[in-house]
This record gives sequence, C-alpha cells and structure tokens, in this order.
Amino acid sequence: MSSAGKVTVLVVEDEPQIRRFLHTSLAGQGYRILETATGREGLSMAASHTPDLVILDLGLPDMDGLDIIREVRAWGNMPILVLTARGKERDKVTALDAGADDYVTKPFGMAELTARMRVLLRHAATRGLDDPSAVIIGGLTIDLARRAVLLDGTRVRLTPREYATLAVLTRARGKVVTHRQLLQEVWGPEFVEQSHYVRIYLQRLRSKLEAIPARPRYLISEPGVGYRLVDE
Ligand code: CA
Repeated sequence: MSSAGKVTVLVVEDEPQIRRFLHTSLAGQGYRILETATGREGLSMAASHTPDLVILDLGLPDMDGLDIIREVRAWGNMPILVLTARGKERDKVTALDAGADDYVTKPFGMAELTARMRVLLRHAATRGLDDPSAVIIGGLTIDLARRAVLLDGTRVRLTPREYATLAVLTRARGKVVTHRQLLQEVWGPEFVEQSHYVRIYLQRLRSKLEAIPARPRYLISEPGVGYRLVDE
C-alpha cells in the first residue's frame, strides 16, 4: 500500500480507451493507478512499485501477458487479475495455471471487475497470516484448523479426499482454482490430466453441502476452467 494509504493498482493495457476508462473509474473509487501500455515497462513497474494488484491485458504489443505472469511469479505474489479478449477456456486455464489469480473477459463491466478486485485484495490481505478462525460463507462453516465442516450448524461428514478438495477451494476462496491445480494438490502431479476425478468429487461435495446440488450456492463451476468457492 502506498504511503497515502491508498491501494495501488498497476494497469498494463495497450488499448488507450480501456486504460483511460480503467483509470477514471478506479481513481474515482479511491485507488491509486499506475499505468503502462507495454509489457516490459509493466514488469519494471511491478518490480519497482510493488503495487497491491496488477490488472494485466494478455495481448500486448511487445510481450505475451503469460510471460509477464510467469516473470512476476518468479519473485512476487501480488494478485494478478487478467483482463483479456481471449475468451477461450484454454486461455483462461493457461493464465490461471501460469499464476494469475482471476480473469475478466472483455468486454467487461466495471462492477464485476471491481468485485473481483476486492476479493483478490481481501484474500491477499489475509494470505500467509496464521488465521485460526473458521471461514463462514452463508450457512457453511469450514474450520480448517479443526478440519470441521458445518452446514447450518450440523457437522458434515466428508471423506479425506472430499475434505482435501474443499480445503484447496477454501484457501483460494473467491478465486478460480483450475482442474489442474486441484488435481495437483489433492491427487498429486501424476494425475493432472484426470479432470473427471475433480468433477466426481465436486458432485459429491455438492450433494453434501448444497441445498440444490444442480444449482450450487457455494461451489461454482467455471466451465472448462475449474471451480470457485464463493467468498460471501
Ligand atoms: Ca491488448
């Protein structure tokens, strides 16, 4: 955070209209904005200013945004929100696997963008802290310290693998976790292609945690990409 106490957002985007729009809207909401049109300058500004959050366009004139994500992730863990015209599932998955925290597809609405930003900033603020308190989302309580899950006050019995899946989503709550990331963390690196495992376990979790499993309130699918545990 800057000395003025404002949250600093670095915008790396080569389209001047979008940059201007972001600048005006975000500055109006009290964010301090740094901006650049090139990947090279974006990388150097990320390193020199260590912004609280980076909004990154993937299609830049001088570099691919994916390489920027990888370079920043080599040294930093600031949230990276990808803003992309690449709407294909594969592109979103690749960006998330490279270390992006979330993505918004162009054309985008400012309300959605800022809601996603708030989740990432909140998450970053608690990341790494030893937080013994339980995560409470609506009627769902997930107590990672005690390995306990309660739904409307009643203990829910989960198998170890179901719990492990939920725990990964809980630690990332509000953010998309890709199939690959879930498989890597819950099953291990040799299983990263077995995305049907994840689908089966999410079905089981939903049948235990959701009032209407086909219309989930907590465990949201990002089709072709992964899953997200809602944050509120
Ligand atoms: Ca672009």
